[in-house]
Amino acid sequence: MTVDAAEPGRDFIRDIVQADLDAKRHTAVVTRFPPEPNGYLHIGHAKSICLNFGIAAEFGGRCHLRFDDTNPAKEEQEYIDAIEHDVRWLGFDWGEHLYHASDYFDQIYAWAEHLIQAGKAYVDDQTPDEMRAARGTLTEPGRNSPFRDRAVAENLDLFRRMKAGEFPNGARVLRAKIDMAAGNINLRDPAIYRIVHAAHPRTGTSWCIYPTYDFAHGQSDAIEHITHSICTLEFEDHKPLYEWFLENLPVPSKPRQYEFARLNITYTVLSKRMLTQFVRDGHVTGWDDPRMPTLAGIRRRGVPAAALRDFVGRIGVARANSTVDVAMFDACVRELLNKTASRYMAVLRPLKVVIENYPDGQVEQLDAVNNPEDPAAGTRQVPFAREIYVERDDFMENPPKKFYRLAPGKEVRLRYAYFITCREIVKDANGEVTELRCTYDPASRGGNSPDGRKVQATLHWVSASHGVTCDVRVYNPLFTRPDPGAAGDIIADLNPNSLEVLKDVVIEPALVNVGPEPVQFERQGYFCRDADSTDTRLVFNRTVGLRDTWAKVQAGG
Ligand code: ATP
Ligand code: MG
Repeated sequence: MTVDAAEPGRDFIRDIVQADLDAKRHTAVVTRFPPEPNGYLHIGHAKSICLNFGIAAEFGGRCHLRFDDTNPAKEEQEYIDAIEHDVRWLGFDWGEHLYHASDYFDQIYAWAEHLIQAGKAYVDDQTPDEMRAARGTLTEPGRNSPFRDRAVAENLDLFRRMKAGEFPNGARVLRAKIDMAAGNINLRDPAIYRIVHAAHPRTGTSWCIYPTYDFAHGQSDAIEHITHSICTLEFEDHKPLYEWFLENLPVPSKPRQYEFARLNITYTVLSKRMLTQFVRDGHVTGWDDPRMPTLAGIRRRGVPAAALRDFVGRIGVARANSTVDVAMFDACVRELLNKTASRYMAVLRPLKVVIENYPDGQVEQLDAVNNPEDPAAGTRQVPFAREIYVERDDFMENPPKKFYRLAPGKEVRLRYAYFITCREIVKDANGEVTELRCTYDPASRGGNSPDGRKVQATLHWVSASHGVTCDVRVYNPLFTRPDPGAAGDIIADLNPNSLEVLKDVVIEPALVNVGPEPVQFERQGYFCRDADSTDTRLVFNRTVGLRDTWAKVQAGG
């Protein structure tokens, strides 16, 4: 699959920003990326990061990184560190503008008391079940809490005692007093402070009450003088509440919220809650398992940050929900690596070939091109000898008509080396082919035809005595359905063949010294050295195949 070149970045949010600047509603644009540190970032977050940091850069403004750390029960320092690392890896820098909702806990608390004093918030003693039952439905209004008309002084006293730690989790909440009959359920006296006796990664045990997302987010935006608070569509219904708080509190600025459609990708789950479950239950090896759609996972798989930015640029920003084909992501990765990755030869499933007329003990160093897309990448030498390995798939004993590779009596080219012809097949006791006996044409050195005769296939190969054995991990999509979980049980949709470990891979010696950048294994795809490599055993990850073979596998082809 090929992808159209990216549109020069224009979308409805950028249009709004431009119009606001033109009308001098703001002198500078200030955006923020507000992750909750309850998991690792995934490709969906990359869309939001590129949008927020991208707009700030394009319009000469700034973008804050703000941790939305209002729920200590689920948040951890590990996630905070990983998120900072991932945003930097993606190529963005918040400079000195690193913030936390927890930086504002004192101010947010003061604003809660402000609402109480104004008769716009009350402490509710109902149980969570009672509150849920009284909330009503989309078609029925809610019912007022029996505690709704508490006096200001009593509310203040109870709220302060909540803060002082007098009550257990869930015993009481502070609610905004808005309208239990509102059509928008978010306005039916939403909880704004909850009791949570849990240590917070930053504020420790200073607090045992925490503001809800709704009560912290817009106010944090206002404190930071965010001009455009960009979020995904699921917050559209929260917007009236976002604005209600800004109107009813003495905030220092009035940010505006804009929503865009979240990124969905076929065969991929982009929900931190689900990804957390896969990690916790051992369906993957960790947050950085290369099958995971996390930035840590795709980075380990070898995907360059530039390919991800390119992908995000191409999918664009809109308000309509849609799902992007995972093949498009792979195409962006392939397209970039085609330009940058050095080529090498590696045989994933080796079959030995003995070249009977090649002198025993002779070794030739043959010139090979490092990257046909980049002449500056130069050439290297590849050792050739009498015994080599070729790909098992490149041989068929009884080939169908259009099979052009090795078969009894067939001649093929060995890349950079010689023409060889298959003369004899050696089998073991089970009838398995263990070796091919071939002859070579000494006049075809360099893989050039000596007399104009043509061969229809060029195979990669590795010298048996020079090659190095290593592991290759081939990744397939983590799910068997394009819409994981749509049939009810997402775990049942996990792909049992998402990881295939090849143990007998033979690589050309030059590959032993490659760095962490992905390389191309000729005719196979792009691969990068995994961190699990040791001094004695290399491990490579397949970043992406050369072609989209998964679609074919799915279709049974
Ligand atoms: P998840 O649904 O994966 O749990 P989240 O929205 O709870 O994600 P946050 O940490 O709150 O995770 O997200 C930070 C920002 O990233 C938010 O502004 C959110 O709207 C945005 N975001 C999250 N998922 C996506 C996505 N799939 N596409 C685009 N933006 C996303
Ligand atoms: Mg969220």
